[in-house]
Amino acid sequence: MTNKENLEKLAYKTKNAYTIMTPEERKIMMDMCDDYRIFLDNGKTERECVNETIKMALKNGFMPFDTKEKLVAGDKIYCVNRNKNILLAVIGSDDIEKGINIVGSHIDSPRLDLKQNPLYEAEEMALLKTHYYGGIKKYQWTAVPLAIHGVCYTTDGEKIEISIGENENDPVFCVTDLLPHLAQDQMSKKLSEAIEGEALNILIGGIGLNDIEIDNSVKYNVLNILNISYGIDEETFLSAELEIVPAFKAKNVGFDNSFVGAYGQDDRVCAFTSLKSILEVEVPKKTAVCILVDKEEIGSEGNTGMMSKFFDMAVAEIIAKIKGSCDMITYNKVIRNSACMSSDVSAAFDPNYAGAFEKQNSAFAGHGIAVMKYTGARGKAGSSDASCEFLHKILTVLNNDNVAWQSCELGKVDGGGGGTIAKYVANLNMDVIDCGVPVLSMHSPFEVTAKGDIYMAYKAYKAFYNNFE
Ligand code: MN
Ligand code: MN
Repeated sequence: MTNKENLEKLAYKTKNAYTIMTPEERKIMMDMCDDYRIFLDNGKTERECVNETIKMALKNGFMPFDTKEKLVAGDKIYCVNRNKNILLAVIGSDDIEKGINIVGSHIDSPRLDLKQNPLYEAEEMALLKTHYYGGIKKYQWTAVPLAIHGVCYTTDGEKIEISIGENENDPVFCVTDLLPHLAQDQMSKKLSEAIEGEALNILIGGIGLNDIEIDNSVKYNVLNILNISYGIDEETFLSAELEIVPAFKAKNVGFDNSFVGAYGQDDRVCAFTSLKSILEVEVPKKTAVCILVDKEEIGSEGNTGMMSKFFDMAVAEIIAKIKGSCDMITYNKVIRNSACMSSDVSAAFDPNYAGAFEKQNSAFAGHGIAVMKYTGARGKAGSSDASCEFLHKILTVLNNDNVAWQSCELGKVDGGGGGTIAKYVANLNMDVIDCGVPVLSMHSPFEVTAKGDIYMAYKAYKAFYNNFE
């Protein structure tokens, strides 16, 4: 019979993540987000994220890939690529030729990298030149406390890890900005031009040597301090990988602690939730794989990005360790039958910038994991467009497990756009769907995510690993 109630059932409505949760789930969500904040604080670079992932994997019974000659159902392994990219797998009970279930996310985030020859002195201040990495709004990186993270070699050839600016007593660094009193010209410029790339120099010192007469005394004093503290010299910088990231810790946001505010949540929020999901998988039917890649923010190129052969090689080796060997035909069959959730963040509808969104196809904070059939720019350029059949199967799995999900696009048509690793995975010849946690202030030093969405992403990946066939 047609009545109001029956008609309303016909409409698509998103669910509020909090209202469909049990009180127990709310508690799990809050505890999980406490762990998530620690994960963010301990992993501000792709290398640190890999280290943190290994620690969590070992605690949960995963073994380094090379320690296993053969793999059988229930085996849990991980495989690291150049300290920046990691793949975890739990071997399933089904024949691997039926395919594997993959969740892929990235652990690199927009930041300022030090130039290879960065150090200079100007007006008796020592500074470091940077080259930004990924899509940043440059003005957001001035006048905020910054930390230096990364790796380099001492003059004795010893590799050391650097992290300065995170402990209470550490100094921090910063990019200075012009005072408003003198910013008449700057303020009339376009936002994209107000701060120039070459102006993103980090202030690191201001006291010269007082016992030695030498030009650039402040710079030499800094070099001397670095030499005494870390055993490095100026040439150290030329091979170093040093990343400048916000120095503050992840925080709860809101009187109700409803959001997480932190640097690097794109895409560590999906890395954390997919990692947590696979750590809890026991013996799935299909082999479960979680891959955390580097270089997404600059196009997925390079030997640690999604376009690297690392993924293919790791999967081929897994097949070989299960079956005794892996030929091209077997490998192709496994890939063709596999499914991937490309888990990357999406834009959460922001009422402050409502004009950038098309409301009917936007993701809303607190309404669950965002599912994107396609990403891309303009006429879907550069997108992996998931098929109707695959998307329907995925949504059925999410519905069966009471996951709050919402369908969205990344903003208005022709408003800009973006891509993920989805297309590179899809190019291998498997089904891929883009999905992830909606983010406010994406790519800023302080990105914001809703805890209900973090929990629902975790629940979605778990449902996928356990129930997608
Ligand atoms: Mn991303
Ligand atoms: Mn991004």
